[in-house]
Amino acid sequence: MNWISKVFRPKIRALVSRKSKDVPENMWEKCPSCGQMSFQKELAENLRTCPHCGHHLRMTAEARLASLFDDQRYDRVPLASVKRDDPLHFKDREKYTERLKRSRANTGLQDAALVGDGRIGGVPAVVFALDFRFLGGSMGMAVGEALLTAGKRAVERRAALVLVTASGGARMQEGILSLMQMPRSILALEQVKEADLPVINILADPTTGGVTASFGMLADIHISEPGAMIGFAGQRVIEETIRESLPDNFQRAEYLLDHGMIDLVVPRRELAETLAKVLRLLRSG
Ligand SMILES: [Zn+2]
Repeated sequence: MNWISKVFRPKIRALVSRKSKDVPENMWEKCPSCGQMSFQKELAENLRTCPHCGHHLRMTAEARLASLFDDQRYDRVPLASVKRDDPLHFKDREKYTERLKRSRANTGLQDAALVGDGRIGGVPAVVFALDFRFLGGSMGMAVGEALLTAGKRAVERRAALVLVTASGGARMQEGILSLMQMPRSILALEQVKEADLPVINILADPTTGGVTASFGMLADIHISEPGAMIGFAGQRVIEETIRESLPDNFQRAEYLLDHGMIDLVVPRRELAETLAKVLRLLRSG
């Protein structure tokens, strides 16, 4: 390490971080699509769709549940915490336990999933939502457990199971234990289907990796939000593997709809209403 990185870098870092703290974080937010600034409050009222270009920004699991249930009312289903947070004592640039601690403090969630129980269009429904802010909505033991809890609750209450996925896939910090959640998540959905209850998945941006490769694509009906990225591996990785260039909208909701991978693309504003319609239809059937 030379004197530049030793002396100057920490000083510059301190200056930059101080500056970013001075800006009130919760006032404005820049749309990642059109670059226009909007008030956070305005965005929240607009269900986090950009008032300038209609881009669907990412949503917290809490806001998601409120947006789907009738009158924004639901019971939060208690989720059991896993016995050992970090069984592999995983560390990359940072300890996994530190990452968990920070995500918990930032989101107020115990892990990446939130489960609510209520009604949608008058029909009983249990909603399981992933929060992308929590380690990229990745699926570890706690998420697998939460999905099993959600499935069990749906069966007990004779309710539909609605999933909202926004995830980078399996949680690499839990290694094989996170991969083991893939078959577990499938079991969670199976128990609901065996009870003759519907499973609906809302694929939000982004739904990728181990989530797409397991429960993310196994619902009875798949609905996506406009422009959502849905896929297993990234576009660049696929292009390098097959040595062919892929269309620009590859892995986007509209492309997948055209190719029969999903059933509907619905703007967020119409999502609750569409869901209610589908649930009522299935129930009458
Ligand atoms: Zn925009």
